[in-house]
Amino acid sequence: MSASIPSIPVDPSRPVRVRIAPSPTGDPHVGTAYVALFNRCFAKKHGGKFILRIEDTDQTRSTRESEAAIFKSLRWCGLDWDEGPDIGGPYGPYRQSERLAIYREHAQILLDKGEAYRCFATPEELEEMRRTQKERGAKQPYDRRYRNIPESEVARLLAEGRPHVVRLKMPIGGKAVITDGLRGEISFDNDELDDQILLKSDGFPTYHLANVVDDRLMQITHVIRAEEWIPSTPKHARLYEAFGWQPPAFIHLPLLRNNDKTKISKRKNPVSLEYYQAAGILPEALLNFLGRMGWSMPDEREKFTRAEMEEAFTFDRMHLGGPIFDLDKLDWLNGLYLREQTPEQLVARLREWLLSDEYLTSVVPLVRERMTRLSEFIPKTSWLFGEPTPLAKEAYVPKGKTQAETWDAVTAIAELVDKQVRWEVAPLEEAFRKLCEQIGWKPKDLFSIVRLVATAATAAPPLFDSLVAIGKARTQVRVRQALTLLKP
Ligand code: GLU
Repeated sequence: MSASIPSIPVDPSRPVRVRIAPSPTGDPHVGTAYVALFNRCFAKKHGGKFILRIEDTDQTRSTRESEAAIFKSLRWCGLDWDEGPDIGGPYGPYRQSERLAIYREHAQILLDKGEAYRCFATPEELEEMRRTQKERGAKQPYDRRYRNIPESEVARLLAEGRPHVVRLKMPIGGKAVITDGLRGEISFDNDELDDQILLKSDGFPTYHLANVVDDRLMQITHVIRAEEWIPSTPKHARLYEAFGWQPPAFIHLPLLRNNDKTKISKRKNPVSLEYYQAAGILPEALLNFLGRMGWSMPDEREKFTRAEMEEAFTFDRMHLGGPIFDLDKLDWLNGLYLREQTPEQLVARLREWLLSDEYLTSVVPLVRERMTRLSEFIPKTSWLFGEPTPLAKEAYVPKGKTQAETWDAVTAIAELVDKQVRWEVAPLEEAFRKLCEQIGWKPKDLFSIVRLVATAATAAPPLFDSLVAIGKARTQVRVRQALTLLKP
């Protein structure tokens, strides 16, 4: 263990309050569960509260479907929260889109204090600035030209109704130093920090303003989040200072990494929690696995429950070398947990998984017409319950196409699958038909590839019903496998 990791201060007069703040812009990510686990353990260890806040101020990318999926997956993991959008709490609302007036009010406070200013730069002006700043070798694209314009000029532009944003006055020159609970002091060149936009021209806050205001108003004592937010932290620290507030402690967890040490990504690893559930990983094994990412038990044992982790939890046992998200390890742990189940428990587990009445009822109609005996159900649906073995490369390549062309088509299929929000028959069919037009493929050829990639079966039920039954997360993983297989 690294002896240099300082203990995280806990003020006995203030109850520990921590949070996760996911943006509902995609599928529930395994990184969210990782950060949630550490936040929750810290809260439990100190008798504090663990809060779920939804950061949905990006109106174009946030969806309620994604939010619901995050709730569902976190609950499946057993990472339930004490306060949140769906259960309320004393510091609500917990969904940022319901707190817009609060952010505007706070931007106004900073304007009144002279800590922020209105910037009226047009897109053309910004573009021109970007060019000149680059030529001048400046470290940031915005030249702060509206930072000190006279009040009378501001009033005139406002009266004209000119669109504008609100920017934070960052210090000019010198260094900004933040303290990270695991890394100690980290310093940044102020000249590299832009006058951060706080409020956009449509009146919506940026992540920075909303995040800091909410952490303050929700009385968050420790901000425990992923390492990728370190560069934002000096801006947050500056915001606390501008408001005259005491900042929380900042603790940045190491990034999870693929086997090749790059930041975990769906290209190299399944990242959706829904995938792990559908693939038959037990939630306690997943949590145990995540608990070992950069952290270990005092006796270094590999298998431990969440309760044991909470009991033993301290950040002193964290180490910062990028933890590798190694699926073989996860499978090994999962096997240990599975073997501990009594036959009755295992049956119950199978029933909670895909052998539930609900799931079976949804998939039986797919094969009913194709069955003459009950015994055919299992062979005809093996691709729904297990991982189909990919076929030989050539099997995916339609007549008249090359492997390279097929790989290009599968690349386009992968993009479509990643982007597709509504995983239902009609929207899927529409999206795939559109793709055929875009890339100039006959539906027959493209659909046959999709079928093979998703099911590895030449005869499967109607394609889009099959994709719905497989679910997005598993389809995504199968498409990635095909990409690897077909790579020219
Ligand atoms: N909304 C940010 C996210 O999506 C929150 C980061 C933070 O915890 O401050 O991860």
